[in-house]
Amino acid sequence: MEYAIEMLGITKRFASVVANDHVDLVVEKQEIHCLLGENGSGKSTLMNVLFGIYAKDEGEIRINGKKVDIQSPKEASDLGIGMVHQHFMLFPQNTVLENIILGDERSSLFLNYEKNKKDVQELIDKYDLQLNLNDKVCNLSVGMKQRVEILKVLYRGADIIIFDEPTSVLTPQESDMLMQMILNLRDQGKTIIFISHKLNETKSIGDKVTVLRKGQVAANVDCSEATERDLARFMVGKDVDSNLKKKMIEPGEVVFEIKDVSVWPDRAPCNLTVRKNEIVGIAGVDGNGQLELEELAIGLNTPCSGEIFLKGEAIGNENVLSRRMSGMSYVPSDRFKYAMLPHQSISRNLLLGNQERNAFRNKALIRNDKLNEYAQAKIEEFNVVTTGIEQPIGALSGGNQQKTVLSRELSDEAEFVIVSQPTMGLDIGAIDFTHNVILEKRNQGCAILLISADLSEVMALSDRIAVMYEGEIVAIGAADSFSREELGLLWQDTKRRRQIEDEDS
Ligand code: ADP
Ligand code: MG
Repeated sequence: MEYAIEMLGITKRFASVVANDHVDLVVEKQEIHCLLGENGSGKSTLMNVLFGIYAKDEGEIRINGKKVDIQSPKEASDLGIGMVHQHFMLFPQNTVLENIILGDERSSLFLNYEKNKKDVQELIDKYDLQLNLNDKVCNLSVGMKQRVEILKVLYRGADIIIFDEPTSVLTPQESDMLMQMILNLRDQGKTIIFISHKLNETKSIGDKVTVLRKGQVAANVDCSEATERDLARFMVGKDVDSNLKKKMIEPGEVVFEIKDVSVWPDRAPCNLTVRKNEIVGIAGVDGNGQLELEELAIGLNTPCSGEIFLKGEAIGNENVLSRRMSGMSYVPSDRFKYAMLPHQSISRNLLLGNQERNAFRNKALIRNDKLNEYAQAKIEEFNVVTTGIEQPIGALSGGNQQKTVLSRELSDEAEFVIVSQPTMGLDIGAIDFTHNVILEKRNQGCAILLISADLSEVMALSDRIAVMYEGEIVAIGAADSFSREELGLLWQDTKRRRQIEDEDS
């Protein structure tokens, strides 16, 4: 049997971090091989070694049975390896065709434009990419931009194509289309490495899967032989039970309200209420006004039009501290920037935003004894893994940083909480924990605005869901009145409608 790829005993270190620890990855020709693992398990590093971006410290690589020493992406490309990165590398002001031809390192000074154009069109047809050569890249959707990246890789003659978490930026429909395209690529003879941290995706597309855990291979199995539960266990190292116990509660009075607030200029204003005992989830592809909504709600920005109410009081012009003192709290999407001081201790971080509270003050002085007692209780309650309350928060893992932030924000004083992208970058265990504490808080009577790019998360936690598209709320309703597909369709339909309107005007 000749393999397309044999990576044997690969070790890659970054200072004291062993990102890949004697990893074996063996891929047959014309196979879709999934590389599954939690954030930070070493997937991208392994692929960057294969693609010549990082030099390995130990191990051996063979491509099509031949030992190779890949020193650069150019050399990888010459060996028939292509990579579709998480972040696209395109020239937005150029057309699809220009992006394909001009970026090609093989091209000489004298471009044979017509011949190249014909070659590119043939590839589009062969792999059913449905791209127009003359479209400007900046006018394309994310899904289409990704196809330009795929086309680029194909044009350079890749037989082995690496996809690094390709669905993380896509809508559900775009993901389905990408999956079809990848299956088609395999059927036409390509070998695929598909990186993911999602179980269902891995199950549905992969022939084989290699699971990484903390830089080591935890399993290597046929996808058809492993259940999602098995895969989760390989990833985490223990059984994971993520059955959320969400009990039905009749929501109470309105706690938070946004009335006629423009989130984006020149777009219809948004209206939204969040009631006691209720989680309202904001769904939509990242970058459609969610961040602006988050910042308006907490007071990092003031609305240009309309008003924001907390417990019936207009607060649109109140600053963050005053909103917090009135019972609002905030788990921001960028926790590093807005929720913590990385070099300060856990207990100091727990004081953030609470410095005005009497429990921690004796006139102008901070009562460290009270604060430390509180911090100790919080880290125990939230199972924060740490050497103690004096440890700098920046030294904790992402999951434990988030638990610390949650322990501060989901305090007894909070009546309304804005929770944005709460599990981004966390591993399964911490995700499960986070979901449970958010639900617990809602059960206790809190009103919660949940903003998340993870549709499964929005669907699992929310009582009502609002869909955002280009700064507007385009739909809102009971969570169980939408299916996953319907939610995706909502923003696609809005987009299509907008395009028609634009053409008409
Ligand atoms: P994954 O793609 O599975 O999320 P990565 O391969 O990106 O994981 O990261 C594996 C580990 O290596 C992580 O601990 C990460 O912090 C570390 N790491 C990755 N790239 C670098 C780098 N350029 N410098 C230092 N550490 C890195
Ligand atoms: Mg990665």
